[in-house]
Amino acid sequence: MNPPHRLFVDGAWRDAASGRRTPLINPATEEVFTEVAAADVADVRAAIESAQRAWEGGWRDLAPGKREALLHAVARTLREHREEIARLEMLQIGKPITDARDEAGLGARCFEYYAGAVTKFGGQTLPVARGGFDFTLRQPLGVVACIVPWNFPFPIACWKAAPALAAGNCVVLKPATLAPLTALKLGELATAAGLPPGVLQVLPGSGAALGDALVTHPLIRKVSFTGSTEIGRRIMALAARDLKRVSLELGGKSPNIVFADADWERAADTSPLSVFANTGQDCCARSRVYVERPIFEPFVERFVAATRKLVVGDPAREETQLGPLVSAAQRAAVEAYLADARARGSRFACGGGRPWPRGYFLEPTVLLDVGREDRCWREEIFGPVVAVTAFDDETEMLRDVNASPYGLSGSIWTTNLNRALRVSRAVQSGVLSVNCHNSVHVEAPFGGFKHSGLGRDLGLAALEGFTELKNVYVAEG
Ligand code: NAD
Ligand code: MN
Repeated sequence: MNPPHRLFVDGAWRDAASGRRTPLINPATEEVFTEVAAADVADVRAAIESAQRAWEGGWRDLAPGKREALLHAVARTLREHREEIARLEMLQIGKPITDARDEAGLGARCFEYYAGAVTKFGGQTLPVARGGFDFTLRQPLGVVACIVPWNFPFPIACWKAAPALAAGNCVVLKPATLAPLTALKLGELATAAGLPPGVLQVLPGSGAALGDALVTHPLIRKVSFTGSTEIGRRIMALAARDLKRVSLELGGKSPNIVFADADWERAADTSPLSVFANTGQDCCARSRVYVERPIFEPFVERFVAATRKLVVGDPAREETQLGPLVSAAQRAAVEAYLADARARGSRFACGGGRPWPRGYFLEPTVLLDVGREDRCWREEIFGPVVAVTAFDDETEMLRDVNASPYGLSGSIWTTNLNRALRVSRAVQSGVLSVNCHNSVHVEAPFGGFKHSGLGRDLGLAALEGFTELKNVYVAEG
């Protein structure tokens, strides 16, 4: 397989104007396996201008039925190339192949959903008090920037690009420096499926080098960003100058709350993957587990046993559940958290070390006795580390849950319906799951409260976010 290695602009491959390239390292082997063109400011301008031409030259005014058909064709092409997409994802970030296949399917599903939505999403007619005829229109913004992280590179690229395109915008997609290959593949495959040149541009490159130019370019009407809270803040500040629209999906420190009345055995068996999947590099990772006191000890025992059974290793093997961390730097950052936990006297119920000499692997780690002021309790670790604590009182527990500045996701385990409803209302987060850990549904809104961001991806909410709402009043008689 020859991975894509150039910028994708105007429906064709090109080198960066500067000629610069970035080496990519396979995190499972620590070997450089390819080099990819690194865009900078000149490439950003060219891509945005070409996207604007594509927008004015046809995409903006394309009949909805045609847009729908094109997005369905994209979905079909993605499904046909599912294995190739999965392999590229595995190579660049070490994602286990079975997860990578599922996520390739999720990306295709996004295009299907938004293809179908094109002809169902519209305005209203309103009975305004003075009579006459009043109607609203949902109009595209123009050229939008979609900036995505390295942890779920392909599905997040799709869940931003598909609604943006369905709403009639053109897209400049910027993948993360470490993970450009599947975004480039998306550009190539979507164009092969019939998307006109310029409608979807893909610019790999470092955020530090091209981010400001992309975000502040006057033709960019919206920035849809997924990544760290720190960069999200910066983007919002830069966007304020031109009052650009922003949507920000940021970090998390999500709770997993297990009441004593729950099917706690099932909770204990399934909770390890709710934090350790993707080797913990998941914005929705349930990294703070709250267990009601009467079941605390048996729960921890079972949770640790289930954690020990997770298969860590070569992402190419079908049975592998946890691959390596994405980079040496990411592992070093996680190990700094583990060092802090050791220094603060936390107990390691399991994990804490490197299982293999090669590749950026780290064992899934369960921490007990983590202090409320400790970094491991307060900060997003973005690695395979969980802290488990006991609670006695629901109200106090909820106060503690909501003391986090984050509010992205979370799980609640109980068989008491009133409690499930009460706690679901009380937890300050954008996404919750009861008696399971599913956070993402293409059909439902996804996003955060507080420092976890603003705006929503997925569902019809994403389409709203990629449009302006216009009201037209027509006098009658
Ligand atoms: P990051 O913020 O470092 O990078 C995200 C993207 O922004 C990358 O494409 C990066 O190149 C780009 N970028 C960096 N500097 C920029 C700048 N100055 N201007 C514009 N773009 C810039 O995040 P990451 O390390 O790739 O991903 C990890 C973070 O993403 C975690 O905090 C995680 O919680 C978050 N995340 C959130 C969600 C969500 O939906 N809420 C999903 C996945 C990841
Ligand atoms: Mn980062």
